[in-house]
Formats: sequence, C-alpha cells, structure tokens
Amino acid sequence: MSTVREFRSDPGAVAPAKAAVREAQSPLEAVQRLIRAACEDLGLPPAVYEYLKEPARVLVVNIPVRMDSGEVRTFTGYRSQHTDVVGPTKGGVRFHPAVTLDEVKALSMWMTMKCAVLGLPYGGAKGGVVCEPRTLSRSELEGLARGYIRAVAGFVGPERDIPAPDVNTNAEIMGWMLDEYSSLRGVVTPALITGKPEVLGGSAGRTGATGRGVVITIREAADRLGLDLRGATAAIQGFGNVGSHTARYLQELGVRVVAISDVRGGVHRRDGIDVEAAIEHTRRYGSVVGLPGTDPIGSDEVLYLPVDILVPAALENQITMANVDQVSARIVCEAANGPTTPEASEALVQRGTFVIPDILANAGGVTVSYFEWVQNLQNFYWPEDEVEARLEDMMVRAFNTVYKVHAQRGVSMRRAAYMVALKRLADAMAARGWL
Ligand code: GLU
Repeated sequence: MSTVREFRSDPGAVAPAKAAVREAQSPLEAVQRLIRAACEDLGLPPAVYEYLKEPARVLVVNIPVRMDSGEVRTFTGYRSQHTDVVGPTKGGVRFHPAVTLDEVKALSMWMTMKCAVLGLPYGGAKGGVVCEPRTLSRSELEGLARGYIRAVAGFVGPERDIPAPDVNTNAEIMGWMLDEYSSLRGVVTPALITGKPEVLGGSAGRTGATGRGVVITIREAADRLGLDLRGATAAIQGFGNVGSHTARYLQELGVRVVAISDVRGGVHRRDGIDVEAAIEHTRRYGSVVGLPGTDPIGSDEVLYLPVDILVPAALENQITMANVDQVSARIVCEAANGPTTPEASEALVQRGTFVIPDILANAGGVTVSYFEWVQNLQNFYWPEDEVEARLEDMMVRAFNTVYKVHAQRGVSMRRAAYMVALKRLADAMAARGWL
C-alpha cells in the first residue's frame, strides 16, 4: 500500500484525507502526490508545494491542417510550462490519440523533477497533439508539425521554453519545426529545439541518449544488487526510440533480451532476440510482430515474464495495483514517463524489487538535449565520444546521489529522487527570495 501521506497544510489540492490510500487516478494526481510527499519528507515550507502543484502556464491551441484530400482538419494541441525557477522550461512534444491537457501537465511536472535530479538548468515543459500519426501521410504530418510550432511560437524560444521529441515524434519532425519557426521569426535559432537532425545543429548521440541513460542506470543498479548482467534476462515493453536503443545497449552488455512488445503485440524468444534484426523488422513492417524465429506473446504478458530486468518503455500507467502482483522482475527500470503508479511502485519495492524511477532512469535524453542546447548557444560542436563521456558522468553522478539518499534514509529510489529534486528546487526558490 502507499506510504504517501497527506500534506495537511493543503487539504484541497489533490484529494480528501481518506484518499491517501486510494491509487492515484491520473498521472497528474500521481505526480502531485509524489511532490507533496517529498516536500513533507524534507520538511519544506508549504509554499514550495504551492509553487509546484500546477504548471505556471498552459497553452491550448487548435491547429488547422490541409489534408491530402484537400479538406481542412483541426487538431488540438497543448504546451504546458511547469516552472521557471531554475531556468527556461524544457520538454518534448508527443503526437498521440490519448493526449489530454492533464496528461501534458503531469508530463511537464515530471520533466521539472527529471531536470532537477540531473541538476540541469531547466524547469519542465511538455507538449502534445491529439492525433493518430499512423493515419497521417508524411505531408500531413509535416503540416501538423509546422502548424503546432506556429501556434506556440510566441510562447517558446531558446531562453523561454525548448521543445524536443517525445512519443511518436523524431528528429525529422524537429527539423520541420525549426524551419517553420526560423522563417516565421526571421532568425536562425538552432537552440530553439533539441533532438533535431545533426546537419541542423543536432547533437551527436542524441537519438540513442535516452536508451544509453536507461542502460547506465540498469548497470549501476545491477552492480549494487550483485547481479551479473552477462546472461541476465530482460523484457522490454515499447519498441520506439527509447525501447529499441535500450534493447541494443543491453544486448551489448551481454543481457539476453527475451521479449519485446509494441502497440501491435509482442515477441518472445527464450534464448534471446536478435535486437538488430528486431529493429530492422520494425523499420520495414512497422512492428516487431512476426519477427522470424520468435514466438508471439501478448503485450501485457511481456510485463509478467520471470526476467531479471523489466523495462516499461511505452506510456503511463502500465503497472498499477490491478496487475502489480503479476510482475516478477528483479529490477524494474522506468524508461517511459510514469509507467508505474506511485502505489504500485511502493508495492514492488516492498516485495524487494529494485525500481529505478523514471525521473532518473530516462533522464539521458534531456541531458543530451541540454548538451545540444549548450552546443547551439556556443556554436561549437562536440564529437560523439565527448557527448557519451559527459552523459556517463552525469548519469552516474545522479544515480549515486539518489542511491545515497535511498540507502541513508531507507526510502525507495523514487522517493529519494524526488527528495533530491525538491531540495534543488526549494534552494532555487529560496535564492530567488520566493520563500
Ligand atoms: N521527451 C523526452 C523526455 O521525456 C526528452 C525531453 C527533452 O529532451 O527535452 O525526457
């Protein structure tokens, strides 16, 4: 059951007192609870939670797009900017049919926490467009990307808010957005957006960065647990940019990736899946399903396999109180944002599972985005090995900082990560004279 307590100085903010044991009903409620609990753990003044319980600003836009048929269709988009306390806001833009304003708000708050755990000079932001990108042609997708950035252009910028890729968006889409913004404003501003193609000022190593960071945290966790990664087994839910790079780097460390799933289904092979073949199959056919030499497996089943390492790398709310008992992995590494509810996560921890929380596990992406922005601002570009060495250094440092709080205070890695983040944010608030 949850150990998250009520933050009594703010009775109305999230839920009535009894609801503390009720599972968070939405990502927004989940992240609010986590922030509140960390404020309480640290004994912070109530003002800290007041500043952070909702995003500073949210923008709702309607984006008309000329479809290939000639008709105009309007898509709804959002941008949520959580806090300016440590710098401009930062975070991706997702294209997905299930995007909602509350989800985007929650994701922007997770971004704040993630940046604070890594010590990056950003608050969190997130954007989203309600759409099913699989049904859009390339030119419709381009129209939507250009329309989105036009709609939020007055609201973003290298010193205000810096977008990046997220679910179903990639370097090509960032390139279109950068081009649109540049022509609209009449300026060359590569630092507007990160995760763009290298030829437009993207950073070497950005595409694989989230997966690299995920695997660095798994390696550190395995080291603390005395788990030998050579021959260890892993299951991966989600095979987009993050899931596929995670699988690749795990395999490089000698891990057997025995199951992979994506939106269409999953594949299983006890002796280990050839990850490069899975990536190639997905590139060709749009899914890992049907990969020769593997057995089909349900998307959910991938979560329940008896593996050493489970990596949810898809969407929020995959492991909840309803299915947590079926999860048997020794390490759960949250490559997605919010894949485990706070209550399910505490249940896992109580059973002895080592949960590497999202705001630490998947922070490699935004960390290399930060490097990209720095390179853009100084117009000086680093070779890939330098990017990787700096990422390694920052991820290991963040892991150690969180692990120390976890060990010293006897709290879960998630609680420890929130405490590290909240301490930094509260210090910044105090330094600005907000407290
Ligand atoms: N969308 C990624 C995330 O959730 C990356 C954000 C960024 O690079 O700004 O962390």
